[in-house]
Amino acid sequence: MLPVYPLKAFIYRFQPSHFTLDTEMFTPIPETIDRLSAELLTATALVPALAVAGATLATTGLAWGALSYAALWPTSQIFGPTLIAPNKPGELALTYDDGPNPDWTPQLLDILARQNIRATFFLIGSYAARNPALVRQISAAGHTIGNHSWHHPNLALTPAARVRNELVRTKATLEATIGKEIRFFRPPFGARRPEVLRIARSLGLTPVTWNAMTSDWSNPDAESIACKLIAKIEMNQQKGMASNIVLHDGSHIDPTANRGPSITATKRIISQFKKSHQFVTLDTWV
Ligand SMILES: [Zn+2]
Repeated sequence: MLPVYPLKAFIYRFQPSHFTLDTEMFTPIPETIDRLSAELLTATALVPALAVAGATLATTGLAWGALSYAALWPTSQIFGPTLIAPNKPGELALTYDDGPNPDWTPQLLDILARQNIRATFFLIGSYAARNPALVRQISAAGHTIGNHSWHHPNLALTPAARVRNELVRTKATLEATIGKEIRFFRPPFGARRPEVLRIARSLGLTPVTWNAMTSDWSNPDAESIACKLIAKIEMNQQKGMASNIVLHDGSHIDPTANRGPSITATKRIISQFKKSHQFVTLDTWV
């Protein structure tokens, strides 16, 4: 049995859609290694050369597992610090990725305005360029706007020059549109490597990941999205942490994708926590 699971997980993570980083994705690693070790014991007794090859594969598997964790796990700080959430269990930051989206973002803005809540929007630069009035509307409503790259590539696998171009072009477009400095950057898919974070910081951007996300981009059930996020928020609270919550008001693959469930889940989360928690933008956490 070859230790291919970490590699599969790593590749799967880079498919063109977000997915939830659940711990189950990584738990097979020790099992795989255990199985490999047992097989190696047998092999060692028979063919020492096979044991050497197996050990190399085990090392490769561990390396892939470690690399996947460092590059993709939202709370990993191995490749450098990212802003997640402070030790403020009474605070929640609603963040929205992959907009602006003319079909869904205005509805979201209405809900947030009615509740007097400010959120953080990580915009795709190419979408922002097509919808400057909507970008200005988000900013004028008091929300924080962040950089989510120009084309939403997997930056962990993107050459440094293009990473810089993705971030510079998006930052310049957003700043020219709203007349304010852009200070936050969320890597698409959460995928990063040390150089990506270094480039972001060199541009004055604080890299941001998260600690509460579910697959709202593929789940048509608003109640399920809300329940899963509420459970994660409560878990963070038990740990004494605020929650940095990811939802999507757009899609980097299909701009016509239905984001109704994410919008409805937003209403449910606000109603659940409005009286007990303070909803904040990421500006208050730096
Ligand atoms: Zn995204």
